[in-house]
Amino acid sequence: MRIGDYILTPIVTGDFRLDGGAMFGVVPRVLWEKTNPPDEKNRIQMTMRALLIQGNKRRILVDDGVGDKYDSKFAQMFHIDHSQKSVANSLGEIGLSVEDITDVILTHLHFDHCGGSTKRKGSEIVPTFPRARYYVQKEQYDHALSRNERDQASYFPENFEPLRKAGQLELLSGPATLYPGIEILIVGGHTPGQQLVKVSDGAATVLYCADLVPTASHIPLPYIMAYDLFPVTTLEEKKRLLPQAHDEGWILFFEHDPLRAATKVGKSEKGFSMGEEISFSLFSGKPIEFGMGAK
Ligand SMILES: [Zn+2]
Repeated sequence: MRIGDYILTPIVTGDFRLDGGAMFGVVPRVLWEKTNPPDEKNRIQMTMRALLIQGNKRRILVDDGVGDKYDSKFAQMFHIDHSQKSVANSLGEIGLSVEDITDVILTHLHFDHCGGSTKRKGSEIVPTFPRARYYVQKEQYDHALSRNERDQASYFPENFEPLRKAGQLELLSGPATLYPGIEILIVGGHTPGQQLVKVSDGAATVLYCADLVPTASHIPLPYIMAYDLFPVTTLEEKKRLLPQAHDEGWILFFEHDPLRAATKVGKSEKGFSMGEEISFSLFSGKPIEFGMGAK
């Protein structure tokens, strides 16, 4: 998909599963199990879909999945599946390698978003993308180091401390325009300093939703993860962004939806819901053109 000067390509880095109840918060199972059937351990299928943004001499990756530093117990707990895809082989399918990535925007430092940032090399753990600057909000970085009992299982310093030691980590403070047409938005609720990435050419807009709207099923306002530290703040952020996304025809890009990379936002008397599904060409490097004034 092309937006202005940029080509956007989904990069699936692997699949995993999380507890369905935790994914849907106060929404009863009888409602979510129809669209997200749970396995025998009550886990639902999820993917880890990064986004590659190429243009203006940059190759920018937004998030990079769980990586491959975990042990077998961890892999079983989350049913991590790299049999089909990993960040390296998904990049390889479009003729790129980890050396080609110039920037990595980490939405936040939960392991399923940033674990692919580092890898084992002998007895060391080193940055996966040797030439990249990695960006994270300072507020999130500080939180990751002082994590609490409720979310400490989501943070592993080995996923981000080697970036700092290598001098490749850049801490951002608040919203920013990283490159022309590429904006960083800050959304509270899930975790302090979660940053979303908005790519726009004025006519077409894609929003990388990270854990604000992890799947298309989470577009309706009350569908908020139990993982969120401040769910009412998440609700406020959805009420701030979804009306604009609907009115301006934004394309929401979903990191965790196992079936759909992106949809628009629908609206009825019942509120917001999944709108028209938008096709991205997967891994072919040949973007599918679509309407809405995209050139
Ligand atoms: Zn998260």
